[in-house]
Amino acid sequence: MPQLYWRNEAEVVAGGLLSEMPQVGEGEYDEDNMPEPSALSPVVAEDFPRWLDLPKGMWETWEPRFRLPTGGSMWPPDSNIIGTKVGGWPAWTQPADWPNCESGHRMEHLLTITGDIQLGDCGGVYFFHCRQCPGLPWDWRFDCH
Ligand SMILES: [Zn+2]
Repeated sequence: MPQLYWRNEAEVVAGGLLSEMPQVGEGEYDEDNMPEPSALSPVVAEDFPRWLDLPKGMWETWEPRFRLPTGGSMWPPDSNIIGTKVGGWPAWTQPADWPNCESGHRMEHLLTITGDIQLGDCGGVYFFHCRQCPGLPWDWRFDCH
């Protein structure tokens, strides 16, 4: 199960970078799914909702127009970035599944992890948070083909 830890920016800046990579705790990871250390090279990009995020009414309007004679449907490309990202819109593989916090607020997309690691069949993990509630509650979703 994914875990998300909030860190205080002032404490991180005051403490500096870690000198060593933290060791994995006993039972924290399945040995077959051990993450490898890697570096990020972030870029700024404009992101848009994936077609899987269309409101239900709009979906029902458009889906028949993209139906194939052989069954299923073929949607035109959208401008959703499929890759690991902070902010933007989830890169859903399955229909959108936005979580609500315990107070009923629809949570905001925080982070998508996909494309860089093997998560099922082209799957992704999506983290969400609620900035309206104290303590920044968070939740996550997973999907794949
Ligand atoms: Zn909330």
